[in-house]
Amino acid sequence: MKLALIGFGQAGGKVVDEFLAFDERTGGGFVESAIAVNSATTDLKGLERVPERNRVLVGQARVKGHGVGADNELGAEIAEADIDEIQGAIDRIPVHEIDAFLVVAGMGGGTGSGGAPVLAKHLRRIYTQPVYGLGILPGTDEGGIYTLNAARSFRTFVDEVDNLLVFDNDAWRSAGESVAGGYDRINREIVERFGLLFAAGEIDQGDHVAESVVDSSEIINTLSGGGVSTIGYASETVETDDGLLSSLTGDDGFDEGAATNRLTSLVRKATLGRLTLPCDVASADRGLVVATGPPSRLNRKGVERGRQWLEDETGSMEIRGGDYPLPDRSEVGTIVLLSGVTDVPRIDQLQQVAIEAQETTEDVRAQADEAFTSLMDTGGELDALF
Ligand code: GDP
Repeated sequence: MKLALIGFGQAGGKVVDEFLAFDERTGGGFVESAIAVNSATTDLKGLERVPERNRVLVGQARVKGHGVGADNELGAEIAEADIDEIQGAIDRIPVHEIDAFLVVAGMGGGTGSGGAPVLAKHLRRIYTQPVYGLGILPGTDEGGIYTLNAARSFRTFVDEVDNLLVFDNDAWRSAGESVAGGYDRINREIVERFGLLFAAGEIDQGDHVAESVVDSSEIINTLSGGGVSTIGYASETVETDDGLLSSLTGDDGFDEGAATNRLTSLVRKATLGRLTLPCDVASADRGLVVATGPPSRLNRKGVERGRQWLEDETGSMEIRGGDYPLPDRSEVGTIVLLSGVTDVPRIDQLQQVAIEAQETTEDVRAQADEAFTSLMDTGGELDALF
């Protein structure tokens, strides 16, 4: 499906940059336009692929290009004040050619955390295309302010988008990795999953005699109904037609039964393995199973069995399935999109810690005010200058 990507804040911009790299590398063709919005000049300069003219600096009057320093209320104010600047870049998008908007932001910071929900609200008011969010949750070790920001932004963002796709940094961090190195790897993981999903709805149907190619309307229908979504992915390397086996035997090594079993087992692995937002799969309201890889290794029976298994797992009658043939790959993979999930322990925990952080912040502020008053109190013995 064709998307207009808008990255808000540093994480948002970097992930959009990575989406562009993925789209270029794989010939996915799902990025129609890419825009980055930020209140920090250096973050915009650091981007590699978002075209210069699509980089929008907001809040210059307030923060002079220095960012909002994790103040997401200020981030939201700036986005509202400068919405016309952002609209200026959106005006250059051929909107009639896109299927949806995707607004990407890290939820723990300031610019994206506050600005992304403001932009989503604006887009939904103006355009008929769905507006999706891709929200990135902070690591639990990032501290109270990031947790509080994320919890408040999450609450707001969910209400302002047609569906919020979520990626939890906390579930994906590795021990012993530098922050920058970690983000580079994590951003590739994000883009591999969401990129494959969106590219799946963009296949040129004339290229192959595909049995049941996924269409963008199936992705849109799975996401419609709103709420929160998560993605699972699993893949396996396969012998391709020009592998050693076929050159020795003249047989391409294809076995229908093995292909079916491989696909059904990959659907299970994708669903029960690490999701972008870990959750109880049974709580999903809708789902979509997409099988990717060389066309000869995809078969309808495998997808159908995987789809049925997911129906049983979720108890949902709304599980869709289809193919995304990728002829030059030596891997078969499955993407599982779970939409409308409601049993998400990480969100409960995030909200709980945020409430505690909010209370602590209020207490600390009250104590500081009291302490300052007492510091300056001279019992009326000393006059101020004026
Ligand atoms: P903003 O520029 O004020 O919107 O804030 P940032 O985007 O820098 O940071 C917000 C949050 O996003 C941080 O708390 C991190 O959890 C996360 N983050 C920052 N950079 C990246 C990145 O490159 N990738 C990922 N996955 N998360 C990031």
